[in-house]
Amino acid sequence: MSNGIVFLVGAGPGDPGLIAVKGLEALRQADVVVYDALANPRLLREARADAELISAGKRGGCHTMKQDEINALLVAKGKEGKRVCRLKGGDPFVFGRGGEEALALAEAGVPFEVVPGVTAGIAAPAYAGIPVTHRGLAASVAFVTGHEDPTKEASDIAWDKLATGVGTLVFYMGVKNLAQIVERLTARGLAAETPAAVVQWGTSPRQRTAVGTLSDIEERSAGIEAPAVLVVGKVAALREQLRWFDLRPLFGRRIVVTRARAQASELCQQLEALGAEVIEMPTIRIEPPADWAPLDRAIAELTRATVEGGPCGRGLRAPRGAETPRPQSPPSPGFQWVLFTSVNGVDGFFGRLALAGKDARALPRVAAIGPATAERLASHGIRPDCQPERFTGAELVQALAAQESIAGQRVLLPRAADVPETVRKGLEEAGAVVTEVDAYRTIVGGEADEEAVEQVAAGGVDFVTFTSSSTVRGFVQALGPARAAALPSSVRLVSIGPVTSETARELGLAIAAEAEKHTIPGLVATLRDLCTVQLP
Ligand code: SAH
Repeated sequence: MSNGIVFLVGAGPGDPGLIAVKGLEALRQADVVVYDALANPRLLREARADAELISAGKRGGCHTMKQDEINALLVAKGKEGKRVCRLKGGDPFVFGRGGEEALALAEAGVPFEVVPGVTAGIAAPAYAGIPVTHRGLAASVAFVTGHEDPTKEASDIAWDKLATGVGTLVFYMGVKNLAQIVERLTARGLAAETPAAVVQWGTSPRQRTAVGTLSDIEERSAGIEAPAVLVVGKVAALREQLRWFDLRPLFGRRIVVTRARAQASELCQQLEALGAEVIEMPTIRIEPPADWAPLDRAIAELTRATVEGGPCGRGLRAPRGAETPRPQSPPSPGFQWVLFTSVNGVDGFFGRLALAGKDARALPRVAAIGPATAERLASHGIRPDCQPERFTGAELVQALAAQESIAGQRVLLPRAADVPETVRKGLEEAGAVVTEVDAYRTIVGGEADEEAVEQVAAGGVDFVTFTSSSTVRGFVQALGPARAAALPSSVRLVSIGPVTSETARELGLAIAAEAEKHTIPGLVATLRDLCTVQLP
C-alpha cells in the first residue's frame, strides 16, 4: 500500500493571506500541486522547489483540463504514493466541484482530507465592507449559483422562496446573468429598492465594487466582469459605513519593485499592506563573488587579540574625550573595524566566517550603514558599535570619523564588487587603512519577465521603485535605454536615496521623488505621501 494522500485545499478568493494555516502546510509539504486559475499564483511559491506543479486551468470558458481528467489525475497521483495538494479558489466545497473530486478519490480508495477555505461569497463582500449577516438586517444567508442557463424552463433554484425567505442572497458566477437574476427576484416579490452590490476580484488589489439597488445595479455595475459576486439584501447598504479595503492609502496603485527577488519581500509586503498592487520586476540578482579567497584571507586575519579600545574588546567604547589608543604604524595585524554596507554583505561574510570555523566572537568593532543591515547583524548576535543617523556611505564614514580617530586603523569592508567607492575613499581620507573584499556580487539583469517589462513601458503602472543604483541599471537594461528614457510621465520613479537618484539621472531617468529616510520604510512613506497628496 502506498502513502499517497490528496488534500483538497481552499486557497481563498485572492488575498494569499486568506489561506488556512493547515492548507498552507499541505501546500508546503506536497509532492504535487494541482491548482486552479482562481487560486492566487503567489501561493505557488510556497510549494517545495522540487514539487510538480500542474495547472488545471479553468477561467471563464477556457478549460485546460476537464473535470474527469482532474479527478483521474488526483486519483493517479494519490495511487503513485504522492502527497497531493489540490489547490482550489475560495472553498473547495462551495461551487468548487471539490465534492466531485472527493467522490472520485473515495471511490478509488485514495485517502483524502479537506481543508476549507474562505469562500468568495463571504470574503469579497467582507472586503467591500458588507457583512453577509447583521443583527436586525439579515438573519440568514444563501449562496446561489447564478450560472444556471437562463433559458432553462424549470429551475433547480426555488426563486420564490429565495426572493422572500432569505435575508442575504449571494450569487456566484452570476455577472452574465445579472439582468435575469434581478428580474426573477423582483417578479417573485423582492422589492426593487432592495440594496445590492457587485464585487469583482474581491480581496485582491484589483477589487472593484458597485452598489445600488436591484433596480439599478445592472446599470451601476456596467463594465464589471467575472469573477464577481452579487450580494442582494439590506446588508449591501452597510458598505457606505463599513468600506475599508479600497480606502487604504495605496489601494489600486500599481507599484513596480525592481529589487532582487530574494530581497523583495519586505518592500512588497509593506506596499501590499497599504493596498498596492505590486509588480515584481527583479532587475538584479545577488550571487556569490567570483572568488572567495580575499574574504577568506581577511577572515583568517580576524583574531580577538587585535581588538583595541578596552579590556573586553568590542562593545566597550572609550568614554568621550578619553584618550583613544593610537595604533603604531605600520598598522597592527588584524582589523580594528568591520564595516557592513548591506544585508548581502552580512550574509556573505557570515557564511564564510562559519566555514572558517569562527563565529561572531572573532569580530572587532562593527559598523552598519543602516537599520536593515544592523538587524541582520543582530541575528548573528551583534549590535553595531557605530551606525550613522542617515543611511548613506558618506554618513557612515562621517559617523565613524566622529566617534574616534580611525587614522591608522585597519578597516575591513566586505561588500559587492561594484559598489561606489565613496566609503573606501572617505575612510582613506580619514587615514584608515581599508581592505575591500567581495562578499557577494550584484548581477545587473534579473529575471524580469517580459510581461512586466511591457506593462511598464506601456505606462501601465503608477510607480517604479529603485532601492539601489544597480536596480536602476538593471531597469534601464530590461527596458532598453530608449524605452526607459521615453517612459510616459504618468509612470513616476521613486528612489531610496541620493546615490540611487544620481545614477538614475546619469542614465537619463527623471526621478519624481526621493525617500527622505534611505530605508525601505522610508521609501514606503514617500510613496504614501505621493498618493495622499494626489488622490483624485
Ligand atoms: N470555490 C469558489 C467559487 C468558485 S466558482 C469559492 O468558494 O469562492 C467561481 C465564482 O466564484 C466566480 O464566478 C465568482 O462568482 C466567485 N469568485 C471567485 N473568486 C472571486 C473573487 N475574488 N471576487 C469575487 N468573486 C469571486
